[in-house]
Amino acid sequence: MRDFSRAEKALKAEGLRITRPRLVVYDYLLDNKTHPTCDQIYHSIVNDYPHISFSSVYNVTEKLSNSGLILKLVSPCGEMHYDSTNCFHGHFYCLKCSCVLDLDLPDVKSFYKPISGSTTTSITISAEGICPMCSKNEQVN
Ligand SMILES: [Zn+2]
Ligand SMILES: [Zn+2]
Repeated sequence: MRDFSRAEKALKAEGLRITRPRLVVYDYLLDNKTHPTCDQIYHSIVNDYPHISFSSVYNVTEKLSNSGLILKLVSPCGEMHYDSTNCFHGHFYCLKCSCVLDLDLPDVKSFYKPISGSTTTSITISAEGICPMCSKNEQVN
């Protein structure tokens, strides 16, 4: 039996109702920092939790990203990826294998100049290219 206390604590702190799919999906994201898609999350948990449907995985990721507990990222090809690291960081998208890697960034807020009269609700920094693994494989071939 898995220990969901970490996930339970975080959901409670956000004022979110505790449900089995929320615990399972969020716990999975805490352990897997690979920015999985709903499809990948579903296929990774379905053997252990056959009663959780694809649509409940989708509903949970929507709910948790709307609440700010997880980040929802849209890749250059339009796929949604989810990230339990919700503090500010950037992302690198590989155009070959579609992996998403974290970018460590300096504190952008210190040099960010908002447009006068505007309100900024989020800042996103992303890069795309070929990841180290794909670059390596290209050299071999
Ligand atoms: Zn790659
Ligand atoms: Zn990330």
